[in-house]
Amino acid sequence: METLTANQLSVYSFGNKKTDGGRDMKELLGGKGANLAEMSRIGIPVPPGFTITTEVCTQYNEEGKEAVINRIEPEVRAAITRIEETMGTIFGDDENPLLISVRSGARVSMPGMMDTVLNLGLNDESIKGVIKMTGNERFAWDSYRRFIQMYSSVVMGLKPESKDDLDPFEEIIDHLKDKRRIEQDTQFNVQDLQDLVYDFKDIVQKRTGKPFPTNPWDQLWGAIAAVFDSWNGDRAVYYRKMHGYPEDWGTAVNVQAMVFGNMGEDSGTGVCFTRDAGTGENVFNGEYLINAQGEDVVAGVRTPQQITLLGSQRWAKLAQIDEEERKENYPSLEELMPDIYKELFEYQNKLETHYQDMQDMEFTIQQGKLWILQTRNGKRTGAAMVKIAMDLLKEGLIDEKKALMRIEPNKLNELLHPVFDPKALEEAEVIAQGLPASPGAATGQIVFFADEADKFKNSILVRVETSPEDVEGMNIAKAIVTARGGMTSHAAVVARGMGKCCVSGAGALKINYKTRTLKVNDHEYHEGDWISINGSTGNILEGKVGTKEPELSGEFAELMELSDKYTTMEVRTNADTSKDALIARNFGAKGIGLTRTEHMFFEVDRIKAMREMILADTIKGRKQALKELLPMQRNDFEEIFRAMEGFPVTIRLLDPPLHEFVPHQLATQKELAEELHISLAAVKSKVAELEEFNPMMGHRGCRLGNTYPEITEMQTQAILEAALKVKKEGILVKPEIMVPLVGTVEEFNQQKAIIDTTAQEVFKKRKDTVEYSVGTMMEIPRAIFIADKIAENADFFSFGTNDLTQMTFGYSRDDSGKFLPTYLEKGILKHDPFEVLDHEGVGQLVEMGTQLGRKTKSNLKIGICGEHGGEPNSVAFFQKVGMNYVSCSPFRVPIARVAAAQAAIS
Ligand code: ADP
Ligand code: MG
Ligand code: MG
Repeated sequence: METLTANQLSVYSFGNKKTDGGRDMKELLGGKGANLAEMSRIGIPVPPGFTITTEVCTQYNEEGKEAVINRIEPEVRAAITRIEETMGTIFGDDENPLLISVRSGARVSMPGMMDTVLNLGLNDESIKGVIKMTGNERFAWDSYRRFIQMYSSVVMGLKPESKDDLDPFEEIIDHLKDKRRIEQDTQFNVQDLQDLVYDFKDIVQKRTGKPFPTNPWDQLWGAIAAVFDSWNGDRAVYYRKMHGYPEDWGTAVNVQAMVFGNMGEDSGTGVCFTRDAGTGENVFNGEYLINAQGEDVVAGVRTPQQITLLGSQRWAKLAQIDEEERKENYPSLEELMPDIYKELFEYQNKLETHYQDMQDMEFTIQQGKLWILQTRNGKRTGAAMVKIAMDLLKEGLIDEKKALMRIEPNKLNELLHPVFDPKALEEAEVIAQGLPASPGAATGQIVFFADEADKFKNSILVRVETSPEDVEGMNIAKAIVTARGGMTSHAAVVARGMGKCCVSGAGALKINYKTRTLKVNDHEYHEGDWISINGSTGNILEGKVGTKEPELSGEFAELMELSDKYTTMEVRTNADTSKDALIARNFGAKGIGLTRTEHMFFEVDRIKAMREMILADTIKGRKQALKELLPMQRNDFEEIFRAMEGFPVTIRLLDPPLHEFVPHQLATQKELAEELHISLAAVKSKVAELEEFNPMMGHRGCRLGNTYPEITEMQTQAILEAALKVKKEGILVKPEIMVPLVGTVEEFNQQKAIIDTTAQEVFKKRKDTVEYSVGTMMEIPRAIFIADKIAENADFFSFGTNDLTQMTFGYSRDDSGKFLPTYLEKGILKHDPFEVLDHEGVGQLVEMGTQLGRKTKSNLKIGICGEHGGEPNSVAFFQKVGMNYVSCSPFRVPIARVAAAQAAIS
């Protein structure tokens, strides 16, 4: 590690007379730090503070705590002094103390990073100053007990002893509430809060064996080190893996002067969004609490109130609260503090325009003064992602290219998921009503603990509330339900980011973790019971509710059109049936890149003829069986050609080992023997004969067509006769016949000769012709090296990256499950190469094959038909290599279209 040069800062200040950072410094300052600096730069009121850089985190991991703290200490002290000067307070002073928050912040927001510690700097001395400054004893002791609570759990690691145990602090609080016969935290008096502080300190000493630190500087260094340590905590590591974020990014630490939302009725705190993160609608929305601090809103401690009047009225309707009571007990901020609301509305406007994207903001009101504590590009569902990008484009805030680049192609998947069938919904019984926190439809079995989300194939996580520890399980669960918390609760925000259906704040649910039951009114539900969740309405429904295919919204269609404007690479689909072909065409596929003919043989009425063909001992017998197959194949092709209406259709000749088609069970073997009028022994011996040690490298691909040319003849005949028939109907047809698994020039040339001869015969017999082309799959490494020679006779190449990956790595795709997970975990591989194309190795072969092929034929058509054709990262690579098209499964076509457009733009 190189050491710091003289002018390279470890600490960047903001909100003081000087602001060192800005929005473009996310890598160094983390997202939170860069945006705090940016806000302060453009005149948004931000409490003063500073950011310790991500580089320091990396150094901390390499050199250890002591060395790094020693090095940055002078800069940190100077920065604290700057805050003191701005605020007119002094850190640790017993007259006029400065209190601060310590907040983690990586480049991208990342659950698992250390939770924020508020009110740092409090101790038995400085609290006197706080009381003196504010004249509010209750507030001072409330802040103190909150600080001990947060610091002990976040920095000192004090946790409940088991997962269904109460938090030790909550236990003390509950105990005191019982004793005092009160319900709310806000009802504690000064004496109660003082008692809590002493009890808290006691339990910290008892449980951790260490006294609670009294020196503010010890407190601060402890918190800073804890932020850095959290970078390597389990949760953060899991999250990084899930998203493929590198370990060496590190996290920044933000230290900031406290502002207080819990100073009384003229104070409060909240979270807001410049647009609806669930639907993308352009409506300002959010939640707030009066007389509360920081996390209270997100953690769902009290029922939060809506910021806008409109939102408040919508909420009241769902919660079945009448207008009178709403106004009285749950007024909107717009009604309660109109001036603050107006100011907040201006800032949200300014920030969205400035960042040109939907913002997720946090704010605190201290005695009638508004402070903004955070802004970031808001997490959103796939549907909201599309709507917001297209709306921002229409509003002129961003241009077409930017709108396209805003789309995370894989997130489009969410829009293609099934939705509840309205008819089934009508009949379903509503168990409870919550808030529509993240849209979607899900059916599954109840689990109560995040770490048990994998207990069922489809589980629905039901919690009182969620916390960052639950993220891994939330990712596994089909949907998330919480009894507490609002639209900005942890559960809601994380679910929207994951595109997962979520209902929050369903207050009627009485959850008991100990008995693993859920009670609503008089009905009890148990772990494993089926329920359905409608994230768009907030309904929780009894049992399983039927679903249907989604209808794609107007913005989705607009996005697709926009993509086509920029793509240079065609997107085709892999489809074996006319049904798949039609789905893909609806999604905008411009042809079929791969039709696997063997799938047509597995249907019940066909497998018999297929088996007859395989079991035949003579050419004559085989030809007889093929004759039976011919009309079936022809019919399938006709339907596909009709469905594709003039778009090219690539059909691959028979590819899998024949062994896959014969029966392996005695009963079916007997059946077959009877049907074919041969002995069971004959069937058995033929099956044994077909047995191979390594079928994927055995008698398959063009090795079949080369050993049994009559198969290629029949398939060619079926393809071209079908083409002629459909052509007669007035539909344009473009058949492309593809020879699989070619490794030598002759393997291809001899197959091509058979295809051409058969074609001539068909044309002569039918007195008509149709244009067709003959190409090959590129999936054996040897074929790549001789691609220039294969190209002499081939009309096109289609890279079969599944087999090519398999053969290049020497990993059997079917057996890789035994070691790939370990490889990924240990970092031996960065990605599963069957999912994301291995650019370095397999990619090099793809590039080489393309170049050699085009050396012979500069206009050689080249595409890819492996699973990678719909994977955005890989699509970008294929664009770079200069392919004409990618082909992927029907449901990935929209993803590939956007990925192709993005690849063309960048
Ligand atoms: P997260 O990344 O989990 O949102 P934050 O650092 O944003 O964590 O802080 C958690 C809560 O504490 C937020 O509601 C935030 O607004 C509040 N908070 C953080 N720093 C301060 C501060 N200096 N004064 C008042 N509230 C703060
Ligand atoms: Mg925050
Ligand atoms: Mg293959």
